[in-house]
Amino acid sequence: MIDEQLLRYSRQILLPDFGITGQERLRAASALVVGVGGLGSPVAMYLAAAGIGRLVLIDADTVDLSNLQRQIIHSSARIGHPKVASARDALAALNPEVDVVARREHLDEQTLPEAVADVDLVLDCCDNFTTRFAVNAACMAAGVPLVSGAVIRLEGQVTAFPGRPGGPCYQCLYPREGALDETCTANGVLAPVVGIIGCIQATEAIKILAGLGDPLFGRLLLLDAALMHWREVRLRTDPDCPICSAAAHQHGGAACKTAPAGLGAD
Ligand SMILES: [Zn+2]
Repeated sequence: MIDEQLLRYSRQILLPDFGITGQERLRAASALVVGVGGLGSPVAMYLAAAGIGRLVLIDADTVDLSNLQRQIIHSSARIGHPKVASARDALAALNPEVDVVARREHLDEQTLPEAVADVDLVLDCCDNFTTRFAVNAACMAAGVPLVSGAVIRLEGQVTAFPGRPGGPCYQCLYPREGALDETCTANGVLAPVVGIIGCIQATEAIKILAGLGDPLFGRLLLLDAALMHWREVRLRTDPDCPICSAAAHQHGGAACKTAPAGLGAD
């Protein structure tokens, strides 16, 4: 590591459990950010600032004036630009050492497996259940860890999955049937609440990639920012989850444990 890098990352290299080894691991790592909106903004900025090696950004949208209240990686000058291009420019200014790959496209069940298999970790920063389920299935199939966040109004939630067969996975938490999207467009959202959840996603990603601390695997954090109250819920494998059983079958691992579906007691 050259002197300039030692200086740039000195404050986290100072951390006893991180050190040069953690920094080298982070530099050798790659992550996919699905959606460069309210959650993807702090996620991409913190991962780039912290020195991740490669960051793949996927989003099909362009920057709109109504995004700027919370999507802080974008700026007024870049209204009308593709979000991934706007984000790539912001990240290049923040830390030119990071290899940023900007993909302006919709992910679907065809393109996702290839995108997921190409990285060490995935951050779900999207805004709809269809993409969330597809991202989860691709991560479980590829055995890639997933850090998932969601925010609406003044409520947020964040959790992580190791991508190992046997679950739990995102679909154990939300069965596919009956999952209805609530959008920030229709319901509103308080900007810094998105930042809080995105910052936790970035923290968990760095922990997992650098081998620091205990990841949020199998635990769901729920935030009610109106009361500034946090709740932690233990996740359980849904024995009927088709994604977990497919992953267990594919990886030759144990079948899902027989535990009650969905949320456990906190
Ligand atoms: Zn599952």
